[in-house]
Amino acid sequence: MHETTAKGILSAQNGMNLYRGCTHGCIYCDSRSRCYQMDHDFEDIEVKKNAPKLLEDALRRKRNKCMIITGSMCDPYIHLEEKLRYTRRCLEIILAYGFGMAIQTNLKQRYINRYENSYEVMSDNNPGLMRIFLQECEKHHIVCSNERLFSYRHKLESRDEARQISLFDR
Ligand code: SF4
Repeated sequence: MHETTAKGILSAQNGMNLYRGCTHGCIYCDSRSRCYQMDHDFEDIEVKKNAPKLLEDALRRKRNKCMIITGSMCDPYIHLEEKLRYTRRCLEIILAYGFGMAIQTNLKQRYINRYENSYEVMSDNNPGLMRIFLQECEKHHIVCSNERLFSYRHKLESRDEARQISLFDR
């Protein structure tokens, strides 16, 4: 790792990268792309050592509350976070100033432990979510029953009968 003194911490869309670079090593990660102009190895994490102070100053100056969002130039819970605790400190500042937080992190191991190789990844809240989904479909006349959607497989319509199936029930 190496440290830097940053000039600012929040982007125009309230995104925040406390670190630049990452040690999780996901093969699909596009943050290594040259288009992001990182002038150091991706695994040599750049630590913005004044980030918590910059964040506090920025939040104090904001007139309206909003969501603060973690950026994609790092994962907020990289291995270094265990020692440095910058993410933790910033979350405490965000909470103290009454802002909201949207955080994206790497939950790979948790998902593996929970779902293993399941074909379906069901929410604990599935019955409640399905109830809302079905109500909304009914309200907007959207066909969502598998039986109805796949009914076309059971007969071959003549050219005269055939008509393009629609998502919307009319
Ligand atoms: S956790 Fe995110 S930033 Fe880190 S390597 Fe994976 S995709 Fe890239």
